[in-house]
Formats: sequence, structure tokens, C-alpha cells
Amino acid sequence: MRQKRTKGSRKVMHLYCSAFGFREPYQMLVDSAFIQSCVKQKFDIQARLHDTLQGVVKPMITQCCMQALYDLGATAQEVVEVAKGFERRKCNHLKARPEEECLKAMAGEGNKNRYVFATQSLELRQALRKIPGSPIVYIARSVMLLEAPSDQTLAKKHQMETAKLHVSPEELAAITGKPLPAAPAPDAPTEADAAAAGAATDEPPKKRKKKGPKGPNPLSVRKKKAPAQDPSAGRPKKRTREDEGAAGEGAREEGRQGNVASMPTRGDGEARKKRKRRRKGGAGGEAGDADGGDE
Ligand SMILES: [Zn+2]
Repeated sequence: MRQKRTKGSRKVMHLYCSAFGFREPYQMLVDSAFIQSCVKQKFDIQARLHDTLQGVVKPMITQCCMQALYDLGATAQEVVEVAKGFERRKCNHLKARPEEECLKAMAGEGNKNRYVFATQSLELRQALRKIPGSPIVYIARSVMLLEAPSDQTLAKKHQMETAKLHVSPEELAAITGKPLPAAPAPDAPTEADAAAAGAATDEPPKKRKKKGPKGPNPLSVRKKKAPAQDPSAGRPKKRTREDEGAAGEGAREEGRQGNVASMPTRGDGEARKKRKRRRKGGAGGEAGDADGGDE
């Protein structure tokens, strides 16, 4: 039984902490009857409160509740001494009010100060259940109990959770609104391009994707693209010749400038032809000279 109770109260206080911002030490407002019952049962109040809430508790008493204890007279001297050990809470009631009224005022509409209420008053407990986020502790026979969260508390918790989950409809609209048009937009043009280019153009996009990141290739592609504007069927042959010629000239120029590596790779054909011509001419001249010399 006791293990079940401690586990249950831990769960309940976890709810108050997570949903309503309760923190240790829990500030507990006690009424006069609660203290009287504790003294009568000879409770170690601090230890009992700790067990009941499964956390550090800071018991407090309002001026009106203290006045109620004073009003009991000399018979309640021991109880008054215990209550004096608690922190006095100012309720700003100039004239002492009935305890229920005072504690109801302390709870206010939403228990903003996050008090735990320890009261033996049934009337007050019923009133506090209607205030979401108001933990209630009471003593039944010789057992100190933490009430299960009220329906109002659970409803408020659920309401806040749904509010957190759904964020705000405006943000949702903004977030979902942008990606929805943006996501289909890139897909649609690619499909349209593929359809317009033809059936066999499935490979080029892949090649583009793969070759895109590589640095040196696009540089050479740009030079070819600049003259060739329309990639049609018949024209590329002529342009390839022109491009080859341009590339050969470029290679020759580079070769003249001293870039030897590009010579054999690019301008092989024409370079060999001209070398051959030069060699032939040179050889013929030399041969002629030699012949002439011999003659
Ligand atoms: Zn008061």
C-alpha cells in the first residue's frame, strides 16, 4: 500500500511540476485543523510532508490561519508553537478572515504562486479542485494523503499540452504553406524538362548531377558552350571541328608559351602533320644541299 502511495504521489507531483511549473521546495499552505491533526497524531511533520509529496516541502501559514490557532486559546499552545516554526505568509487581510476564505484568496484564479494546500476543510478542498494546478493534502485517520489531480487540473493540463503540440495555427500555416508550394515546384520543372527534352534524356540529368561537383570539367565545358548555343542534331559536327581547330590553336599557343604537357594530348594531328611537312621540307632542303654539296 505504502509503495503504491509513494509511487502515485510522485507521479502526481511530476504532473504538477511538468504542467504547472511546481518546483522544490514545494510551498505548502497549512490550515489550523491540519496542524492540529498533525500534532494530535504526533507526526514528524517535515518528514511526513516529504513522504507525501516525494520532495522537499516548505510549510507556510497565513496570518489568518495563525490567528485561528491563537483563537483556540491556551489548549492549543503546543500547536501554536509548531505553527510558529513555519514561515508566515502575508495574506494582506487586515482583519482576520475565515481560513477557507483566506486560503481561497491565496489560490486566486490559477494558483499563480504554486501553493500546495494542506487543509482538513472539505469545503475548501472542493473549492480548490475547481482551481487547476492546486495540489491538495489532507489527513484521513492517521494517514497523510495527496489528492489525485482534479478533473479541472487534468483538463487544463490536456489543454496546455494540445496547445504546445499544435503550436499556433498561424505558424503551422506559415511552415506548411512554404514547403508545400516549394516542394512540388522543383519536382515539376525537372519532370517538365525531361518530358520536353525527350524520352532518351534520362541519362543526362544523372551525368549533370555527377559531373556538376567536379571542378575542371565545367571550365572546359563553358568554353565550348559559349560558341554553341543550341544543342541540335546536325550542327555539332561542324562545331566540333571548329572547336578542335580552336583547341589545336590554343594548344599550339600554350605550347609556344612553354606548356609542353598540352602539346601531345590536344594538337597531335596537325602538329604531327606540320612537323612532318617541316621535316620533309627540311629534309628535302638538307638533302638538296647535301646533294648539291655532293654534286
Ligand atoms: Zn488571510
